[in-house]
Amino acid sequence: MDYDVVVVGAGPAGCLAAKYAAKNGAKTLIIEEHASIGSPVQCAGLLSTRAIRECEVVLDGGFHPIKGAFVYAPSGRRIRISGGEIKAYVVDRRIFDRTLAENAIRSGADILMRTRAVGIDIGMATRGHGHGRRRILHVEIEGEPDVIEADVVIGADGVQSRIARWAGLDTPDTVTVLSGAQVSTVYDFDDPTFVEIFPGSCAPGFFAWAIPYHGSARIGLAVRPGLGSGSEVEHGSAWAHLKRLIAEHPVVSEKCDPGIAGIVLGGIPISVPKQTAADGLLIVGDAAGQVKPTSGGGVYPGAVCAKIAGKIAADAVLEGDTSVRRLSEYDKLWRGRIGRELAFGKRINGWMARLSDSEINRMARVLDDDELLDLITRYGDMDHPSVVVRKLLMNRKSMGAFLKMALMMR
Ligand SMILES: Cc1cc2nc3c(=O)[nH]c(=O)nc-3n(C[C@H](O)[C@H](O)[C@H](O)COP(=O)(O)OP(=O)(O)OC[C@H]3O[C@@H](n4cnc5c(N)ncnc54)[C@H](O)[C@@H]3O)c2cc1C
Repeated sequence: MDYDVVVVGAGPAGCLAAKYAAKNGAKTLIIEEHASIGSPVQCAGLLSTRAIRECEVVLDGGFHPIKGAFVYAPSGRRIRISGGEIKAYVVDRRIFDRTLAENAIRSGADILMRTRAVGIDIGMATRGHGHGRRRILHVEIEGEPDVIEADVVIGADGVQSRIARWAGLDTPDTVTVLSGAQVSTVYDFDDPTFVEIFPGSCAPGFFAWAIPYHGSARIGLAVRPGLGSGSEVEHGSAWAHLKRLIAEHPVVSEKCDPGIAGIVLGGIPISVPKQTAADGLLIVGDAAGQVKPTSGGGVYPGAVCAKIAGKIAADAVLEGDTSVRRLSEYDKLWRGRIGRELAFGKRINGWMARLSDSEINRMARVLDDDELLDLITRYGDMDHPSVVVRKLLMNRKSMGAFLKMALMMR
């Protein structure tokens, strides 16, 4: 098999990269190791309206609308953050990812399911655009070894990206990969258009969530491995914390049915490698740590970067130059679009991870104020949290509470 661009992984990033490579004139193939796209699900499915637009998916009646959030401090104080209008939707990732794959196919990409990348080499061109070196992707198609030649391979193979490792690109280390766990169950939401967020020691280093989806709920959390010394996190997995949240948390245990219909476990990378391009190779999405460190949302940043990756890969192939020098334009462009936001989010995440329950309670007391809640409503943006954080840092009422953050983030 011989392609201009081969994308490894049919998640949102892979499908969008393939769509843009095909749209821009490259003969493109997606390979996916599983028999079914979007499965197993490793996501709460909460996407901002902007993220859905960025994925170029038409709004579907099946999406569950979200208008705001209740944030519960460890003290039990509840803060209501509402924008009035629909800010986000909860989607079924199996259907969502399949739609993205169909869009890629419509744009001209081929797709091979049950096909796993097992190795990668650089070889001399036998076909293609004749500029010498090509990528040789070793694969197993339904268990049978085979080889696919490509001018550019795009690694969109998720948080444990083997493509990034084989290419010698940095992968996020274990400290910067959060450990996530989630269950589907029944939960007594006060308002089914509001998500519920629980920061604090119930989810050390991150937060827990309850997300409504058409009468059911996704209850989950992420924890930061290795946080503190001798703390429970050293020993406890995300799953152990989640079981404790459901059984013991004063709010969650009251509202959540202990019967569980499904369990999701997965890593969430929150830092980006130094380099995301190599000769004849790009990495994108979770494989490149393109995830918002404040929320763990990877679909939006992955989509932004995947579209750039697909276009640059196609342009490079058609120009006959797939060297790292040419492909590094992708690295430059995606960092220009979202690099600063991700870096700022990483610093906020680091700061949040170090707050004690009593510090979070103090902050919640400060923020539970009409003027500040109005400011959060006006400037809060799931995809660009730096905007509202900067506003809070400049506000005379929240400035004091946020001073510590300002100092720690210098
Ligand atoms: C518990 C949890 C909750 C989350 N909730 C949200 C949320 O609400 N909103 C949000 O935006 N994000 C959320 N995320 C993050 C989000 O799921 C990811 O950021 C997103 O799926 C990344 O997309 P991707 O295309 O980069 O990778 P993936 O979706 O992981 O896709 C990678 C694909 O590559 C395939 N693959 C891997 N290796 C190979 C190989 N060798 N050969 C062939 N195929 C291969 C895999 O099978 C997979 O299909 C959550 C994550 C977790 C763990």
